[in-house]
Amino acid sequence: MTTASRLTDGIELVVDALQANDVETIYGVVGIPITDLARAAQAAGIRYIGFRHEGSAGNAAAAAGFLTQRPGVCLTTSGPGFLNGLPALANATTNCFPMVQISGSSQRAIVDLQRGDYQDIDQLNAARPFVKAAYRIARVEDIGRGVARAIRTAISGRPGGVYLDIPGEVLGQTMEESAAAATIWRLVDPAPRQLPAPSAVERALDVLSQAQRPLIVLGKGAAYAQCDSTIREFVEQTGIPFLPMSMAKGLLPDSHPQSAAAARSLAISRADVVLLIGARLNWLLGHGESPQWSPDAQFIQVDIAASEFDSNRPIVAPLTGDIGSVVSALLEALAARPIQPAAAWTEELAERRARNDTKMRERLAENPHPMRFYNALGAIRSVLQDNPDVYVVNEGANALDLARNVIDMQLPRHRLDTGTWGVMGIGMGYSIAAAVETGRPVVAIEGDSAFGFSGMEIETICRYRLPVTVVILNNGGVYRGDEVAAGATGATKASRAEKDPAPTVLNAGARHELLAEAFGGKGYHVSTPAELEKALTEALASNRPTLIDCELDPGAGVESGHLASLNPARAAGSVNPPSGAG
Ligand code: ADP
Repeated sequence: MTTASRLTDGIELVVDALQANDVETIYGVVGIPITDLARAAQAAGIRYIGFRHEGSAGNAAAAAGFLTQRPGVCLTTSGPGFLNGLPALANATTNCFPMVQISGSSQRAIVDLQRGDYQDIDQLNAARPFVKAAYRIARVEDIGRGVARAIRTAISGRPGGVYLDIPGEVLGQTMEESAAAATIWRLVDPAPRQLPAPSAVERALDVLSQAQRPLIVLGKGAAYAQCDSTIREFVEQTGIPFLPMSMAKGLLPDSHPQSAAAARSLAISRADVVLLIGARLNWLLGHGESPQWSPDAQFIQVDIAASEFDSNRPIVAPLTGDIGSVVSALLEALAARPIQPAAAWTEELAERRARNDTKMRERLAENPHPMRFYNALGAIRSVLQDNPDVYVVNEGANALDLARNVIDMQLPRHRLDTGTWGVMGIGMGYSIAAAVETGRPVVAIEGDSAFGFSGMEIETICRYRLPVTVVILNNGGVYRGDEVAAGATGATKASRAEKDPAPTVLNAGARHELLAEAFGGKGYHVSTPAELEKALTEALASNRPTLIDCELDPGAGVESGHLASLNPARAAGSVNPPSGAG
């Protein structure tokens, strides 16, 4: 007598492969052909967080990757759902966050002959230019291999986004259960350490020890690496001033005496030797060029991707390896040759820092009515100083530039923002991931325009009852809300222009807090720093989904924030409005 063999299918195998590799959460939007995959994952004990738009689900997966060093997983449907998720996957790749987007896709035989399938698009090739790697699973027996390959690629070396295409028909294919089990495996050492060559360590210390005005720049790669105490020990043992990039804030507390954050331009322009740890010399650092940097400055760079070196300035001492291993090696070698920056340099920075701190305090203490950015941020700052374990998500133009400077961070990886692309729309996805992955409260500091890109996810925050407080710095516009539409010529055009708002104008009277109330959250409308401080304190104490609409002067804010110089120069008499003072 033969026993009937039990069958399993593609859906179960995807779940098994993810679980074998410790995936605990999937961020997604269900639909054809992956709805049952989400159900099966949930039934198997994987947490499934369902979003209102794939872009936010993808952003959540990317943030999860940054926070945990495990690839965040985003699940999307075929065609448009896949395409909606793709910008987030590209953004994860650009930021070096590990992420895997798993997408169902339409029937290959029909798509490839362009016969017009439901939601047909060649997803694999569409994804390729935007990701670290793209794979397609064409047979049920390759599911374990495909998932292993996707996870390995996402987290090893320089982390990034991986696209994994699974056609609907493969999800439905069956296999005999015992044979299927053999196709699943668990990765061994998914992100192996990479040790630097001893000669490279010596070379770096040679350069560093000759510096008069050394500077350490900590980037989000250093935050990602999760070797916080090693980095701190190195910084403190050398006594070298450090500058954190925005998502590296808190790696050492912003209040640390060696922080040069409040003397940023001076530190950058005067440093003679710069040690970059997990930071790229891209636009965020002025490409390392003059006039921001000294033309004579020498650069040492620690990065896991050797191809990063020399991308902008010559790197006189490249250190390839994972940051934990490289900084440990530097520390060890330091014992034999201590380094001490010149006292004149640290004093120069300390003086500038004290002067800038005083200016900042004066600005924060002002109390104009209506409120402006600094005054609202001053209130948020004082609440967060008492709650250092709160995760901060930040996006906008002025809301980003100013909050980055005003809001001090005390703990590593507690600040998530628009990152390498300066992309808007990450706010709610990042907030949801921070809350889900850490279980800690999150405060999202949002420009009103930036919030709009992912605002519907306030419903997701309420549905999962996440401890997220969204503070909208509402000046009623993109950059600012007081622009008057330029007059148009011609009778019809003129009357239309009278009715239509200017391109930068949104709605200064918008009551965003009602959005939270619509979905069972708590809403506040505030118009003074005292009201904001009280509302935020209550929100954090409640641990409930909350939205605080913070009414600002529509004239507060400057066009393009700190990046006005990136706009094309226009001839005199153009319609560009003058920038106001923020
Ligand atoms: P920031 O925007 O904060 O300056 P970037 O995203 O430009 O930071 O740079 C991060 C860098 O860190 C990337 O070049 C990436 O290759 C590198 N990186 C990421 N993780 C590691 C790691 N574990 N070890 C070494 N380098 C890393």
